[in-house]
Amino acid sequence: MTLLMTGTAVLAMKANGPAAFNGLNHAGQAAQLYLYEKDPVTWEVIDSGAWGKMTYTEENFVFNGHGLEPKTEYTLIRYMDPAEEEPWSTHSVVCLGEDTSSRDGAAHIMGEMITGGQKVWLVLSDDVDCGTGKMIGWNPSEYLFEYNLITDASYITNHGNGIYSYTHLIKDGEAKQNQAKKASGTSGPACYKLMGHAWDYTPYYTINPTNSDGLTEEFIVGTIETSIQTWDASTSFPLFGSRLPTPKVISWGVNDGHNYYSFGDYPTDGVIAVCRTWYNTGTDYIVEYDIMFDEDFTWGDATVTSGVMDLQNIATHEIGHGMGLLDVYQRPCNYVTMYGYSTEGDTAKRTLETPDILAMQLNYGV
Ligand SMILES: [Zn+2]
Repeated sequence: MTLLMTGTAVLAMKANGPAAFNGLNHAGQAAQLYLYEKDPVTWEVIDSGAWGKMTYTEENFVFNGHGLEPKTEYTLIRYMDPAEEEPWSTHSVVCLGEDTSSRDGAAHIMGEMITGGQKVWLVLSDDVDCGTGKMIGWNPSEYLFEYNLITDASYITNHGNGIYSYTHLIKDGEAKQNQAKKASGTSGPACYKLMGHAWDYTPYYTINPTNSDGLTEEFIVGTIETSIQTWDASTSFPLFGSRLPTPKVISWGVNDGHNYYSFGDYPTDGVIAVCRTWYNTGTDYIVEYDIMFDEDFTWGDATVTSGVMDLQNIATHEIGHGMGLLDVYQRPCNYVTMYGYSTEGDTAKRTLETPDILAMQLNYGV
């Protein structure tokens, strides 16, 4: 009996130990997310219940579950909160991976990080149809639910009426100051990623130049429009219409029909700027984008004032999201405009590289 217990303990430690993290590519900082068994009535965490922990980067994840039912098939999902009260059978999920638990109720799942909702759940594999992205059974007492939300750099939200949005964060990180851009090689990663959604008409935009760095309206508007023209020149499709006057009351992140550029505060630390891009799941077309530059940083022209966050650099990156491009995180791709990290002084994203242009032309034509 003692021997058996020891054997079980060693197995559990193995699943939880450093070896479990070998699959992670440390392109960015790893984050951790905890899942717990919860009371399906009160949604309180059950003391001494089953639990799990997921360690993830923008590219990969490793999940270890403990105290689960033995010899049971589990699937790890990203779950999107519905916009309003809807039956569980309509809720959207994305499957991350699956495993059959061991005799002692441990599960180990690892794989590629896939964009989805901000919640991660471990559910019975019999209760989810990964093909359609829907739950087909509902046994919450058998699941693990999120303790904290996923904070990776892009996640999908359901806003109702068939409108979903991507939220893209550009983070303060690994980009070196004025890093040299390499010529595109013929081998290695593609260095672009498409949202799978694009505009079918030319959208107008509006710029709110209010900022806390004393920058003039002329500088803000002129700089953002330089970034706009940089992308507009990459395809024959007219990507940008006229600049509209700024309405008195509009906000970042609200699906109000205005493609809105502004300065403000995004609550997550280390986020330089954020773009939310809404699309219609019926037509698959983009319907709006909002870009916000985080005032935690000092903005300006880094070629004139050293040490500032370069507005043209970050605006060019964010506009790519508004037109349907996703972030790229592989380190060999750190020369492209859609690379998901930047820092003060970086101006390398002002100009487009071959993968950025190729991606835009895949969406809108040459
Ligand atoms: Zn980005």
